[in-house]
Amino acid sequence: MTSNQTCFRALDKPRKILIENARIILGSKGIIQEKSILVSDRKIVAIGDKTAIKRSQGSWELDLDASNCLVMPGFINNHSHIAMALLRGMAEDLPLFNWLRDKVWPIEAKLKPWQIEIGAALGATEALLSGTTTINSNYIYDSTGSEASALNAIGLRGVISHGIFDWTGEKGLKATEDLAAHFHGKDEGRIRIATSPHAPYSCSPELLKNIEALRRKLNEKYGKDYPILNTLHVAESNAEAEEIRSRYNVDTKRGVVSYLYSLGVLNSDTICAHSIHLTEDDYFAFRESRASIASCPISNLKVGVGVADLPRAISEGIVVSLGTDGPASNNTVDMFETTKMASLLAKGLKGDTTQLSSKESIMLATAGGAKSLHQEAQIGSIFEGARADIVLLDLSSISAMPFYDAFNYIAYSARSRDVQDVLVDGRILVRDGAVQTINLQNLRENISSAVSEIASDLSK
Ligand SMILES: [Zn+2]
Repeated sequence: MTSNQTCFRALDKPRKILIENARIILGSKGIIQEKSILVSDRKIVAIGDKTAIKRSQGSWELDLDASNCLVMPGFINNHSHIAMALLRGMAEDLPLFNWLRDKVWPIEAKLKPWQIEIGAALGATEALLSGTTTINSNYIYDSTGSEASALNAIGLRGVISHGIFDWTGEKGLKATEDLAAHFHGKDEGRIRIATSPHAPYSCSPELLKNIEALRRKLNEKYGKDYPILNTLHVAESNAEAEEIRSRYNVDTKRGVVSYLYSLGVLNSDTICAHSIHLTEDDYFAFRESRASIASCPISNLKVGVGVADLPRAISEGIVVSLGTDGPASNNTVDMFETTKMASLLAKGLKGDTTQLSSKESIMLATAGGAKSLHQEAQIGSIFEGARADIVLLDLSSISAMPFYDAFNYIAYSARSRDVQDVLVDGRILVRDGAVQTINLQNLRENISSAVSEIASDLSK
């Protein structure tokens, strides 16, 4: 088994579609009732009455009946490693560093590009079926198969990076350059790339600076229309500052974020996953640098590293978004679960039910992600001129009944089974609950081949 081409179906051209007579639309300015949305040339071109749209915009190719649907912007999963769908359930209930060093990293060292691509196809399929339209994902890039090639084929929007460690050094930098050359800006900016040092405890200060220098160089070459951002794991465990200090002989007593800021590698283009264990100086560094946070509440609980104080981060004016982290430490890429968990943890942490309301947590999972990715003019909300990244939820589902409030429903009771249709960039990728761009039977067979091959390679 060396190829998984058969699981990808051809991607249609974006079409002119009317999402007709939606019962409720979560618009950028609030709730809109019983209006239609015209999608054309990848974008939302009109929101209004069907007759008025027809008069001003002419005809369309396809109708999607939304009369019993809630129409929302797609979720933005701002931190994941979706190819790790292949490893979910493989090793559980271990301390974070043991899990990484004894289980995950030895397998990852032997993973083949086709296996990574098929893992990413599985993760992307699950993401689409749970209403996600954009993923910021970080893993291992190879020109013969990667998360980037999988997302490009499936039609999901993505920001993809190659994780760099001390032990991948120069090779990691070269892979990032190759990833940028092959994928940055692909399909009118649907696929973008980022740079990604794994973490300040697995990248030396020199390497962190070299990666930031590479990002600036790549931005000069490729970043005119779509900026190239940087993303890394930051302050995930409370042992991290000491780990960095002892490994690299550097001063981290003011905190991990302050350390990054002192190196000159933290700025408004930096997306810091986790950011749980923060000092007062760290909050100062966030405010000064305008770096953003991608919080992964389920993964943080599962690996036992703590709870991020999102109400505090928001009150400091920091851009906060949500992510699932990799499916091996979650074990899904379901943003309904993540949104609910973020809200519940904020309430539990503060002993205050008013913290991170349903509306606020949904904003983190949509507009917050768009802002962190510097794509708020295109995605994260429903408005005329936005890219058509749209999710239709079926309000006849059990979890939607009775229906009182759109935000309360999405944040607390909606389930991925309620996802009826998903559009990304004007293409219908999920129709009546079925992914259109993947052959599921072939995906199953490829996953099963990949798992057998991994087991056999590990036993050698
Ligand atoms: Zn991660």
